[in-house]
Amino acid sequence: MSEKKNIAILGSTGSIGTQALDVIRANKDSFTVEVLTGNGNADLLIKQAIEFDPNTVVIADEIKYQYVKDALASHDIKVFAGKKAIAEVVQMDSIDTVLAAIVGYAGLESTLSAINAGKQIALANKETLVVAGDLVTKLAKEKGVNLYPVDSEHSAIFQCLAGEFHNPIEKIYLTASGGPFRGKDKTFLSTVKKEQALKHPNWEMGAKITIDSASLMNKGLEVIEAKWLFGLKPEQIDVIVHPQSIVHSIVQFTDGSMKAQMGLPDMKLPIQYAIGYPNRMKSDFPRFDFIKYPQLTFEPADTKTFRNLALAFEAMNKGGNAPCVLNAANEIAVAAFLKDKIGFLQMSDVVEKCLQTVAHIAKPSYADYVETDKETRRIAEELI
Ligand code: NAD
Ligand code: MG
Repeated sequence: MSEKKNIAILGSTGSIGTQALDVIRANKDSFTVEVLTGNGNADLLIKQAIEFDPNTVVIADEIKYQYVKDALASHDIKVFAGKKAIAEVVQMDSIDTVLAAIVGYAGLESTLSAINAGKQIALANKETLVVAGDLVTKLAKEKGVNLYPVDSEHSAIFQCLAGEFHNPIEKIYLTASGGPFRGKDKTFLSTVKKEQALKHPNWEMGAKITIDSASLMNKGLEVIEAKWLFGLKPEQIDVIVHPQSIVHSIVQFTDGSMKAQMGLPDMKLPIQYAIGYPNRMKSDFPRFDFIKYPQLTFEPADTKTFRNLALAFEAMNKGGNAPCVLNAANEIAVAAFLKDKIGFLQMSDVVEKCLQTVAHIAKPSYADYVETDKETRRIAEELI
């Protein structure tokens, strides 16, 4: 076995994908890039392919296939296009770890396919677990696949659990920055525009997750993600707002002891931990300075104003296909908000209405999830 880990990066042109390549660039002795995939930004995908020389590149958007193929003609790199191709190439023998960093429901199929082939997963795509957490975790167990969390809160919990995997968790606290509208009321929120919502105080991320962070849906999705990753009951998961984003999350054990993981907000750290596990690799990321942070503060989340978080808890408690409905409705609502078609508060209206309307399925199959996603999108589009 080679010492280097061979990585496939799904969504390499995104915020997580590009930061993962930064980590790999700084650790060339530890990793090789086997596969890169992108969707819209063909030029960046080409540039990445020329720099990292992967075995295979996939452009999800089939219209751009010839463009990418021509640009890489003089390189020894295979080029494919389309969603199906992503789900196929992740099964290549030469891949050790798949970094799932596609955004939204679109990442589900390829992640399942990689697990089916026994690949270790570094999971950024939280929607995968929100939509079909039961199927994904069951399949991972069957195939002996570990899901290494990339989401900073879940990486924090995972880091706190190192050496404690046999010890029962009493509860976990997921920290939330509160986003750009922390402390605001509904009157204020009814007027906000996407430009304001896209300005996150602590993190630079893709557009969808940035809107989710402003509406607290991101924390709602993370609660459901945590339930599946750590095998918790809903009542064991709490959310606490921590505006400085230094404490990334907290585990409370059965003896009452609490462990937290801390550091400056920088996604490169959880990405590096997930793909480098079990090793902590040296890094030159900026270090935390206590003098610059005289106070770390904590406050409860305002679920009356930010209804998405309450809706996510509701969907988690209901179970079955409810979180899948929540996710699909939210994806449509966020896309509509980004096109100025609906206001900020209406995003929660769309999600709530879909949760009430779509038929509940207690034990969904994969086909049920696909159908639920489709049906919810149809209803949400109609509402908009
Ligand atoms: P992004 O929008 O910056 O990047 C998304 C990537 O997915 C791009 O490479 C894009 O080309 C690709 N993609 C989009 N639609 C696709 C489709 N239909 N088919 C195939 N590929 C497609 O998003 P991001 O911020 O990097 O987030 C990626 C995932 O990681 C999300 O699930 C997000 O919730 C999660 N995450 C992100 C951060 C962060 O800091 N950005 C933190 C925690 C978790
Ligand atoms: Mg997070």
